[in-house]
Amino acid sequence: MTAYVVGHKSPDTDSVCAAIALADLKSKLGVEAKPAIQGVLNPESKFVLDKFGLDAPELLTDAEGRDIFLVDHSDLAQSLDNLNKGELLGIVDHHKVGDVTTPNPIWVWTWPVGCTCTVLKNMYDFYKVEIPKNIAGIMTCAILSDTVVFKSATCTEQDREAAEALAGIAGLDDLQALGVEMFKVKSAIEGTPVRELVKRDYKDFDMSGNKVGIGQLEVVDLSLLDGVKEDLAKDIASLKSEGAYHSVFLLLTDIMKEGSEMLLVSDDPSVVEKSFGKAPSGDRVWLDGVMSRKKQVVPNFEKGFAA
Ligand code: MG
Ligand code: MG
Ligand code: MG
Repeated sequence: MTAYVVGHKSPDTDSVCAAIALADLKSKLGVEAKPAIQGVLNPESKFVLDKFGLDAPELLTDAEGRDIFLVDHSDLAQSLDNLNKGELLGIVDHHKVGDVTTPNPIWVWTWPVGCTCTVLKNMYDFYKVEIPKNIAGIMTCAILSDTVVFKSATCTEQDREAAEALAGIAGLDDLQALGVEMFKVKSAIEGTPVRELVKRDYKDFDMSGNKVGIGQLEVVDLSLLDGVKEDLAKDIASLKSEGAYHSVFLLLTDIMKEGSEMLLVSDDPSVVEKSFGKAPSGDRVWLDGVMSRKKQVVPNFEKGFAA
């Protein structure tokens, strides 16, 4: 049976590219595997696949009756429906370990680095499998995206080394320029429905029994969002009631100023001060130096919600 390799809901460039890379690696190791995505490609991922001439993976939202590898997540809230009715064969990730469990032993490669594709580069090396040029290209882009061109607090030496080696294979010589090009594509919001912006990079979490949604929009300049900010605030309020959330947070990250304005709607806004030591003014708060949801936002909220 063909196994499916799939990243998290609201796929980002790492989730898409890691799925393609792991499917390629597994196939070369004799395990028939296909990449999949749980939702439509965001503009950045589309740009990256187009640039290297790769097709979008097929859509998959349900695991029932299938063999599955997970990349870029291991939280049930971010995964396929009916994951327990399929067979989980392996996980490659760079987040906190989530709440998936398995009846059998499986392969788990999870490293505290900036990008799943960094782990995958090391897996190709471990198995002594050559990385195709176009896959090396998209893996490079995934690292640039997840580490915000090496600026994020999540970026490690392994990410830099992997990106440089992959860029060498792909024949890319200016990673800064490529990174800026990608972030310009990512910053383009014109004509995009507000809900699509909120959900573009959005994750659900269970924090001490509370349903919490955290979205993030990374832009090269926050002023690009001036025209839609009020609509975004209204939309997360609707999303909160539709989804029976305790809280919904939306990080508007300025990658040049290296900080985030967080819009919030919560049953208990004091959780923000408990988590970050800073009280919001109304429905928003500026968090200086905060760019990484994974490393600087989720862990703080986990503690704040537990307090
Ligand atoms: Mg991701
Ligand atoms: Mg990632
Ligand atoms: Mg990201």
